[in-house]
Amino acid sequence: MNKELTGRSVYAELISIGSELLSGRSLNTHAKELGGVLTGIGLRLVRDTTIPDIIEVIESAVRDALARVDLVFVSGGLGPTSDDMTREALSSLLKQKIVLHEATVKRLKGWYSRRGRTITSAGERQALVLENSSVLPNPVGASPGQRIDLSAGKTLFVLPGPPGEFNAILAEEIVPWLEDRYADVQPDLVRIVHTQGIGESDIVTLLEQAGFNPGEILLGFYPGRGRVEIHLTAGADKASDVDELCGMLRSVLADYLDPER
Ligand code: ATP
Ligand code: MG
Repeated sequence: MNKELTGRSVYAELISIGSELLSGRSLNTHAKELGGVLTGIGLRLVRDTTIPDIIEVIESAVRDALARVDLVFVSGGLGPTSDDMTREALSSLLKQKIVLHEATVKRLKGWYSRRGRTITSAGERQALVLENSSVLPNPVGASPGQRIDLSAGKTLFVLPGPPGEFNAILAEEIVPWLEDRYADVQPDLVRIVHTQGIGESDIVTLLEQAGFNPGEILLGFYPGRGRVEIHLTAGADKASDVDELCGMLRSVLADYLDPER
């Protein structure tokens, strides 16, 4: 963050757990999803850490994140297999026991019996949660999510790794809770100027020549395929400043505006 925007700021971090995310086997998609969702409600995802399934590494990553920010999201490593260590790591870090969540066991038993199968003890492992967690039902998979309220108003969310499950619990359980809890937080204003036929360094030169000064407004330059998107971001109370700055940008870059946008 090179600039502090106005308004109340609530910071979040994501810790993606899974050795396969580091070996090049799987593309980590959670930050994109979570970042989009949090930005939409005015919360700021400020760090995305990917770590292997190693208990000590998980413990220290979560401890460090909780020391920095109010909201920590942990994903992956909740399955029935021996390489899934997330619960054990959190139990050790937070000094909370791991308990069987009976309502989840019941749901899993129903799921298995509808398919003519009986749940195994490995299957039941997916219903294990931390003793002080609020269990967040998983509408599309086995392991539920968990919300763990900690001291100093900090909150830890624990989510399964498969993207469909991560996204469903986020949308159905977590977003409504965050919207309620942070109802006073306003999303930032974002205006976008689309240019074409000019590179970033030439844009900067034109802006410097015009004496362009963004003041408190955050500028982001995102080049790609012969075009550059310039994002202007500011707190919700800065609408007129952002509009004015956007107008100035458009006039300095008038010869290079993308006619299709
Ligand atoms: P399950 O109960 O299904 O085992 P889990 O919480 O234990 O879930 P993992 O075993 O860590 O999750 O991962 C399950 C699958 O989800 C793997 O194929 C993995 O590659 C994928 N996955 C995990 N984390 C991510 C991520 N951050 N982005 C994309 N895919 C992911
Ligand atoms: Mg994993």
